[in-house]
Amino acid sequence: MLKGIGVSMGIGIGKVLLIEDHSLEYTPRTVEDTQAETRRFQNAVDVFCVNTEKHAEALKISAGAKEAEIMLGHISIVKDPFLLGEVEKLIAGGQCAEAAFESMCDMFIQIFSAAEDDLTKQRAADVRDVKAGVLGILLGVTEVKLSDAPAGTVLCARELTPSMIAEINKDHIVGILTETGSTTSHSAILARVLEIPAVMSVPEIMSAAENGETVILDGSKGEVILSPDDAQLGLYTQRQAKQLQERRELEQFRGKTTASADGTVYELVCNIGKPDDAAKAMDCDGEGVGLFRTEFLFMDKTSVPSEEEQFGEYKKAAMLLKGKPLIIRTLDIGGDKDIPYLGLGKEENPFMGFRAIRYCLKNRELFRTQLRAILRASAFGNVSIMFPLITCVEEVREGRALVEKLKAELRAEGIDFDENIKVGIMTETAASGIIADLLARESDFFSIGTNDLTGYTMAADRGNSDVSYLYSALQPSVLRMIRAIIEAGRNQGIPVGMCGEAAADPMMIPLLISFGLTEFSVSAPSVLRVRKCISSWTKEKADAVAEKVISLATQQEVKDYLRTVVS
Ligand code: PEP
Ligand code: MG
Repeated sequence: MLKGIGVSMGIGIGKVLLIEDHSLEYTPRTVEDTQAETRRFQNAVDVFCVNTEKHAEALKISAGAKEAEIMLGHISIVKDPFLLGEVEKLIAGGQCAEAAFESMCDMFIQIFSAAEDDLTKQRAADVRDVKAGVLGILLGVTEVKLSDAPAGTVLCARELTPSMIAEINKDHIVGILTETGSTTSHSAILARVLEIPAVMSVPEIMSAAENGETVILDGSKGEVILSPDDAQLGLYTQRQAKQLQERRELEQFRGKTTASADGTVYELVCNIGKPDDAAKAMDCDGEGVGLFRTEFLFMDKTSVPSEEEQFGEYKKAAMLLKGKPLIIRTLDIGGDKDIPYLGLGKEENPFMGFRAIRYCLKNRELFRTQLRAILRASAFGNVSIMFPLITCVEEVREGRALVEKLKAELRAEGIDFDENIKVGIMTETAASGIIADLLARESDFFSIGTNDLTGYTMAADRGNSDVSYLYSALQPSVLRMIRAIIEAGRNQGIPVGMCGEAAADPMMIPLLISFGLTEFSVSAPSVLRVRKCISSWTKEKADAVAEKVISLATQQEVKDYLRTVVS
C-alpha cells in the first residue's frame, strides 16, 4: 500500500491513466527576424488566452464561478506586463520565443518555489501550468485530451494542473492521484468541489503505476493500492457501496428540521473558511454558519486586506445565507495558523503565545479594520461577531468596548449596521471553562472550540503525534469542561454551540444533547449525518448515557462504553 495525503474524500476504484508530461523539448535558436518572432510569441499568448477562457467556461459549469477564476488567473500571469516586456526584450536580443519565455517563467517559478507559505508555492504551480501551455502552442504539441478519458478512469499525474482538471468529465473520472500537491493546492480544492476522491503527494506514483492497471484509492485516509488482490478489491468495493448507500439514505434528512426524537429543535450550522463556502453550506442543507474562520482571507493575501475588501467578503457570505445566521470569528492567528506578513515572530511556545484575540487587541488598527468591516456587513444579513481564544473577562470587555466605539463611529458617518449585533466568544481554553459563569455574563453566546479546548485542557499539542494518545475530546477532563461550559451558558440564558470537530462525532452527540447544547456547527458534508444522529436520541436516553459516561474514569472506558450504545 502506498501512502499520500488524502485531499478529497471517498473511495475510488478504477483503471490508471498516466498523464505523462508531454515533451516540450526544443533546441534553442538564434533568430534574425526578431519582429516576426515577437509576433509568433504574441500569437501564442493570444491562443493560450482563448484556450484558457474556454477551459474557464467549462469549469464554471462543472465546478462554479470561483473555481473558474483560478483558470482566469492564468491569463493574468501570461499577460503580466513585466513578464511580457522581459520576454520581448530577450527576443529582441535574438533569442527564440521558446527560450525567452521559458527562462522568464523559470525565474518566477524559482522565486515562488522558494517561499515558505503554501499559497506562494502554489503560484509556482500556476506559472508552470502557463509555461507548459504557451510552450506547447509554440511547439505545436497537442495536449492530452482528458475529456476523452473512458468511464472508470483514475487519473495519475506528476502534478495535476487546474487546466487539466477543467477538462475532466466528472462522470468518467473516479479518482485522482498525484506526486505533488496537498490539501490547499488548487487542484485539491477543485477535486473536492467536483467530489472526486483524490490522494496527492504519493511518492513515485508515476513510476509505480502502469497504464490500465487497477487501483484503489481512499481519499479520506490517503491510501493507494495498486493491482489489489481479490480480497482487497472485495473489501473496498463493500466500503464504497456502504458509503454510497449511506449517502443516499441521508438524503431523506434533507430539508427536515434538526430535532431529537422527542422533538427538541437544535440549530445545525456549518464551519466555513471562505464566503463561497456559505453557498456549499446551503447546498448541504446547513441552517447557517456557526464559524467563519476569517484567517483564510488574510492567508490568501500578501498584506492585510483593507476594510473595503473584507466588507465585500463578509457581505457576500451574509447575502448568500439570505438571513440565516452567520457567526464571523475575528482573526485567529498564531499556534498552527501562521500568516507570514504579520511578522508574528518565533515563539518558544506559540500555542500559548501572542495569538488570536491577544494579537488583535494589541494591533488595534488591524482589529478596527476587521470589526468595522463585519459591522458594515451586518446590515446585509444575520451577522454575529465571535472572539477566539478568550481566557479572561478583560479580553471580552475590551473587545466589546471597541465594537461599541466603532458602532458610534459608523452611526456618526451615517453607515448602516445591525444595532443589535450579537457578540459572543469561543470557549476553547481551560481558563474559559473554569470561569465560564463569569464569561457568560459578558457574552451574548458561547461556541465551544473542542479542537483547542482538548489541547489546552490536556496540555497536549493537537499536532504532536507523541501525545496524540492524550488528545481526545472524550477524555473525562474535557467532557467535564464541556459540561461546565454548557451549564454556565444555560444558567445565564445564553445559547451555547460547539464548532470544534467533536460536534459531528456520533459518540459525543448524546452527551451534548444531555448537557443542553443548542447549536452544532460542523463541516458542510457532515450536516445530514449529524441531523440523522440527533434525530435518534431522546433527552431521557441521552441523559442515561451521559450519567454513565460522567461516572467513568478513563478515556478508554468512555470510548468502550459509548461504542456499545452508539451504532
Ligand atoms: C476549535 O478550536 O475547536 C475551533 C473550532 O477553532 P480552530 O480549529 O479554527 O482553532
Ligand atoms: Mg480554536
